[in-house]
Amino acid sequence: MAPNCIFCAIVAGEAPCTPIIEDETVMAFMDIHPANEGHCLVIPKMHYPTLFETPPEVFAAVARLVVRVSLAVQAALRPPGLNLLQANGAAAGQSVSHVHVHVLPRRPDDGLALNWSRTAPADPAKIAAIAEQIRRHLPPA
Ligand code: 5GP
Ligand code: ZN
Repeated sequence: MAPNCIFCAIVAGEAPCTPIIEDETVMAFMDIHPANEGHCLVIPKMHYPTLFETPPEVFAAVARLVVRVSLAVQAALRPPGLNLLQANGAAAGQSVSHVHVHVLPRRPDDGLALNWSRTAPADPAKIAAIAEQIRRHLPPA
C-alpha cells in the first residue's frame, strides 16, 4: 500500500467506494466524478503508479476484469458507445497515480473529446520511421 494513494486506501477499506466486484488481485468500482452515467474504474489491488511499472500478468488480470465489467455496463445501461481509457502521466491526464482503466460509456453528444484529426494523414515515411524506432525498443514477449 502506497502512502497518500486514494486507490490503495479504497483497496484497504480505509476510504469508501461503490464497489462492483473484486477478487484477490483486482477490483472494479464506480468513479466518484463520473464523466457519464456508468463510468467505472478497474484497478490492480497492488500499487503500481502507471502501466510502465505494472507486471504484464497483473495488467492481464485487470484487462480480464475490464472485459467483464464492460459487458455488464453495456448490458445494464445500453450506452450507444463505450471507451476504455488508461492514462499514464499528467500529460496524458492521469490524476491518480495508481494504475487504472476507465470503463466509460459514451453518447454522441456528451462533449468528451479525444479530438485528433482522422482526416489528415501524416507523412507515411515519418510514420514508418517512428514504427522502426518503436520496434527497436520492444521488450521481449
Ligand atoms: P485519471 O485522471 O487518473 O485517469 O482518473 C482518476 C479517476 O479517479 C477520476 O475519474 C476520478 O474521478 C476518480 N477518483 C478520484 N478520487 C476518487 C475516489 O476517492 N473514489 C473514486 N471512486 N474515484 C475517484
Ligand atoms: Zn495505490
